[in-house]
Amino acid sequence: MQMKFCPECGRPLAGRRVERHVRPVCSQEAGGCGFIDYGRFSLGVGGLVIDIDRKTGERRVLLIQRNQEPNRGGWTLPGGFVDFDESVDAAVVREVAEETGLQCRVIGLVGFRNRADPDVNTSYAVFLLEAVGGELASKPNEEIAQCGFYTLSQVQEMPRLAPLSRTAAVAALTAELHVLRPITVPGLGDRPPFTFFVGSDQTTQS
Ligand SMILES: [Zn+2]
Repeated sequence: MQMKFCPECGRPLAGRRVERHVRPVCSQEAGGCGFIDYGRFSLGVGGLVIDIDRKTGERRVLLIQRNQEPNRGGWTLPGGFVDFDESVDAAVVREVAEETGLQCRVIGLVGFRNRADPDVNTSYAVFLLEAVGGELASKPNEEIAQCGFYTLSQVQEMPRLAPLSRTAAVAALTAELHVLRPITVPGLGDRPPFTFFVGSDQTTQS
């Protein structure tokens, strides 16, 4: 789905070659502001939080049951969409806290999924988190019917658990995940630094 009018100044957009592609552009030669429509992308994040059952010593994973559409009553990893002005690691910590009451810190990136649909290019990143505070929510709210920690056998038998959440949860409960850890790398020129998730222990900051 391509834009017809500039969202910045309202002028009609015209097809112009930008590097290798023709894209809708608010042409500066025609008095426009130079806006380029690169298309629609969405970025979601999910959090894998693991604990150990005190009685049995079994590993368990944090899951939530949705209380609103789409997929009301379905189960997933806690998470949601990244806001335009926040980083992915801030977004996953915020979403897990909002949905479950637990305060977490990011250990690293453990999975990434992507699909190019006709109307939007959609991505979702899964982070391994460590709970560092807060208290698990015990009452339902508008968004979340319930949340809790579940063992491997409970995860395997859980109806209406989203396929990707099941895959990630089973992986986390049956093996040590490969974790891409966050480091800070400088931006180009005077731009601010980035967080870079990288799989090497040897990487040093330059
Ligand atoms: Zn414009």
